[in-house]
Amino acid sequence: MSGPDQVTTLAQVAAEAAKCTRCRLAGTRTNVVFGMGNPDADLMFVGEGPGAEEDRQGLPFVGRSGQLLDRLIRQEIGIGRESCYIANVILCRPPQNRDPLPDEIEACNPYLEAKLELIEPRVVVTLGNFATRLLLGTAEGISRLRGRTYEFRKGHLVPTYHPSAALRGGGEIVAQMRADLVRAKRLLETRTS
Ligand code: URA
Repeated sequence: MSGPDQVTTLAQVAAEAAKCTRCRLAGTRTNVVFGMGNPDADLMFVGEGPGAEEDRQGLPFVGRSGQLLDRLIRQEIGIGRESCYIANVILCRPPQNRDPLPDEIEACNPYLEAKLELIEPRVVVTLGNFATRLLLGTAEGISRLRGRTYEFRKGHLVPTYHPSAALRGGGEIVAQMRADLVRAKRLLETRTS
């Protein structure tokens, strides 16, 4: 997102995103939710898009889904959210929490690409259909895609359910999310060099 000789930082990309008018969601958002966490993280989570609480605070996963996500990360990986990076497919809340539209996902994609380039996480955990389909380039659903590890850029990708599916679906979904996070933890423990 910069000229050939410039070194772009995450903060610069965030400053650009804060003024973004690339899609219609600029007209209804309260805050751009760029993402948060450690810019050198080995582990990055990618969700769908901000909900009402995230839009209000300008931070990802700070509502009920986020509380569950934080708990699962702490219990299964043994770290806090500040040690990872948490991002979303889209940066702005869709009205009435509707699904993101294809042109909104496309307009927002350079921001996610920039984060992946700059953070270079060793493991990306995608949360739900939108992030998983986008990053794996497939139309397949999450329940078929989860349960295995995919090569991704210079590292790996582990798909899992979105925590809101676990809030709706209960114990079996949570158990599968836990197993997926253990998979991510093992990958993080495996040194490649
Ligand atoms: N759901 C998401 O996908 N992302 C958030 O940041 C919050 C809820």
